Amino acid sequence: MSFPHPLLESRTLGRLRVHAIQAGGQQLDGGAMFGVVPKTLWSRRLPADDKNRIPMGMRCLLIEHDDGLVLLDTGLGNKETAKFHEIYGIENAGGEGRTALEDGIRAAGFAPDDIAVVINTHLHFDHAGGNTWRAPTGEVLPTFPNARYVVQAGERAYAEHPNERTAASYFPPNWAPIVAAGRFEFIAGAREIVSGISVRPTPGHTPYHQSVVVQSGGETLCFLGDVVPTAHHLPLPWIMGYDVEPLVTLESKRTLLAEALREDWLLVFEHDAQAGFGRVVHDGKAYRLAE
Ligand SMILES: [Zn+2]
Repeated sequence: MSFPHPLLESRTLGRLRVHAIQAGGQQLDGGAMFGVVPKTLWSRRLPADDKNRIPMGMRCLLIEHDDGLVLLDTGLGNKETAKFHEIYGIENAGGEGRTALEDGIRAAGFAPDDIAVVINTHLHFDHAGGNTWRAPTGEVLPTFPNARYVVQAGERAYAEHPNERTAASYFPPNWAPIVAAGRFEFIAGAREIVSGISVRPTPGHTPYHQSVVVQSGGETLCFLGDVVPTAHHLPLPWIMGYDVEPLVTLESKRTLLAEALREDWLLVFEHDAQAGFGRVVHDGKAYRLAE
């Protein structure tokens, strides 16, 4: 992979070992990524290329938990065409494994069969595409055959009833084979998935988007998902144009970041090309990444 970020960044959180895995790179339109924020402002932080695209990551988090390995989001997977990769500027090919995500899991010392739980923040292709993989036979199979997968029931319904604007993000092969195998669990609202690992609704990007909060030994980590996709999205009004309910995102961010600041949470930025982990500060005007 020519993608600039390290494949694996490992940390200790209380009693847990956590691994941020850069499951690939993406190039997306800078305007779409920053919504109503003028290019003169966002391009100072993230210069765009000649197609107005900015570099982004597709980071997943692997958690070594007493109840087994927990994986948060799964990147894009191996099912999309070369044309699709070109449109979204995706680089996620594996070296040893089927994808960069699988390489990252192996670099952490594990294999796909070892994953016990997969939690999807939502079902967009760049977060749930790696839930399944296309075998050489053409068959689409669960990538993590021993895992139970978890997402909000509302997100599944939203994904299965797309409209003209949302359809480009939701592909049934990313969840249907897991539903057919009886391995997808659909939940409603906040829930502890395994001891110390909970999901909480953070709607706005999609109506049933969820973030994941991990607590151990008095420390807290939050895997934000698309509520704050990069560290550049920390200022409250810096919200993606992709969000279906941007003013709902605003309130989700307001609540979550206040708590993150107060309790000094370790944050994981899923789409950031550079910052994997970070903490937030407020400089009197806006939230930003701590030095
Ligand atoms: Zn998304």
